[in-house]
Amino acid sequence: MGEVLPSPVGPRATTSPGGGAVVLPSPAAAGEGPSTRITRVGAVPWSVPRVGQVRGVDVLVVGAGFAGAVIAERLASQAGKRVLVCDRRPHVAGNAHDHLDEAGILVHQYGPHIFHTSAARVVAYLSQFTEWRPYEHRVLAQVDGRLLPVPISRATVNQLYGLELPDEAACAAWFASVAEPVAQVRNSEDIVVSKVGRALYEKFVRNYTRKQWGLDPSELDASVLARIAPRTNDDVRYFTDSFQAMPRDGYTAMFERILAHPNITVRLGVDYRELIGVVPFQTMVYTGPIDEFFGMQFGKLPYRSLEFRHETLPVDRVQPVAVVNFPNDHDYTRRTEFKHLTGQAHARTSVVYEFPRATGDPYYPVPRPENAALYRKYRELAQQTPDTFFAGRLATYQYYDMHQVVGQALTVFGEIAMARAGRPASPLAGRDRVLG
Ligand SMILES: Cc1cc2nc3c(=O)[nH]c(=O)nc-3n(C[C@H](O)[C@H](O)[C@H](O)COP(=O)(O)OP(=O)(O)OC[C@H]3O[C@@H](n4cnc5c(N)ncnc54)[C@H](O)[C@@H]3O)c2cc1C
Repeated sequence: MGEVLPSPVGPRATTSPGGGAVVLPSPAAAGEGPSTRITRVGAVPWSVPRVGQVRGVDVLVVGAGFAGAVIAERLASQAGKRVLVCDRRPHVAGNAHDHLDEAGILVHQYGPHIFHTSAARVVAYLSQFTEWRPYEHRVLAQVDGRLLPVPISRATVNQLYGLELPDEAACAAWFASVAEPVAQVRNSEDIVVSKVGRALYEKFVRNYTRKQWGLDPSELDASVLARIAPRTNDDVRYFTDSFQAMPRDGYTAMFERILAHPNITVRLGVDYRELIGVVPFQTMVYTGPIDEFFGMQFGKLPYRSLEFRHETLPVDRVQPVAVVNFPNDHDYTRRTEFKHLTGQAHARTSVVYEFPRATGDPYYPVPRPENAALYRKYRELAQQTPDTFFAGRLATYQYYDMHQVVGQALTVFGEIAMARAGRPASPLAGRDRVLG
C-alpha cells in the first residue's frame, strides 16, 4: 500500500478507488474548516520533511504535476519501479491543483483549467483515474459594454455590428472586406489585422495582449497570436477538440488516484535538493524549471507571471459563462466563475481575477527568439546529463496544455523504459514530440 502522507487538501478525497489510503489531512487540518486549508496553500505545512523514512528508490520524480505524476504512475505500475515523487509545493496536481475554498466551493488555485483533447490515448489513460463531467468551454469578451463570444466568429460580428451574415461564405467575404493585407507578416499585430482588420483587432485583441504580455502585439512574435484564427461559422465553443470534459471530482482527486500506487511515495513541501545525498536513486525525472536545475549558469529564462485574486460573492451566479475577458476595462484580463466548470450547486459563487505580472511564479514562457536560444543552451546541458530525464512545461520551456503534457509524459515513460532496458534514449527524447 502507498505510504500515507499529510496533505492540506482536506478530507474531500481520502481514499483511492481500490479503497487504499491515499492522502490524509494533516493533523492540523483535521477537524478544522476549509478556510484553514486555503490559507495554507502556498505555505509548507511540514517544517521537517520526513525524508529519512524513505530508503533507496529506483526513480526520483521531481514535481507532482501532470508530467511527474503520470511518469511516476507508469514507472510504478508498468515497470515495477519504486518511485519517490517530491514537490516543493504543499499539494499535488501542480498548476492544475483545485481545492474547496472557505465557502466550500471547488476552485482552481492557479486559474481555470479546462480539459480538452483529441488524443484518444490521453483520454483512455486519464479515464483510469477519473470519471468525467461533460463540459464545453465558452468565453465572452466585454466589448463596447456588451458580452460577445470569443474567439471572433460569425456570431461575434453578427452580434457586434447587427449583421445577418447567413453562412460561412458570407462571413469569409465580410472578413476579407475588412482585413488589411500585409505584405510580410512580421509580428502578432500583422497576423490579426491581416485576417480580421483593425477595428476588431482594436476592440478584442490589442489591449488584452498588452495586459497579458506587457507588450504591444506589434512587439510580439507572430506565433503568439497565430493560433487565434477567426471562425466563419457560428461555433462559439472555445475549443473544438473531440473530447471536452472536466474530471468529475476535480483535478486533485484525480491526481490522488494517479499517485495511489503502492510503489509510489509522495513527499510534499520538499525541494528535490533536500533529498540529494539523503535518498539514493538510480534515475531522476525532473519537471521543474530547467534553468534552475543548472544553477542559472547561462541566465534566467524569462516568464510572464500572474497574480490571482480569489473572491466569493453572495449570489448564485455572477456571469453567464465560466470566463469573461476584459480586453479594454480593468487591470485584470479575465474573471472565471468556477461553478460553471464544476457544475457544483451552491448558494454563493467563487470567482478568480487574473492580473498579469512581470515577476512571480513562472507561468508563460515568453516566445522570443533570444529566449528560445537561451533554452537551447540549457537543453544541450540536459542532453549530456546522465540518468536524468526532463519533462513538462518548465523543464522544456514550452507552453503546453494539460493533454499535451500527459502525451509527452507517456512518451518519456517509454524512453525511460528503453534506456533501462539497455537501449539508448535521449534524456529529452519526448520533448519535441508532444503528442496531443
Ligand atoms: C493560468 C493558466 C491556465 C491554464 N489553463 C489551462 C487550461 O485551461 N487547459 C489546459 O489544458 N492547460 C492549461 N494550462 C496549462 C497547464 O497548467 C499545464 O499544462 C500543466 O500544469 C503542466 O504540468 P507540468 O507537470 O508540466 O507542470 P506543473 O503543473 O507546473 O508541475 C511542476 C511541479 O514541479 C514542482 N517543482 C518545480 N521545481 C521543483 C523543485 N526544485 N523541487 C520539487 N518540486 C519542484 C512545482 O512545484 C510544480 O508543482 C494553464 C496554465 C496556466 C498558467
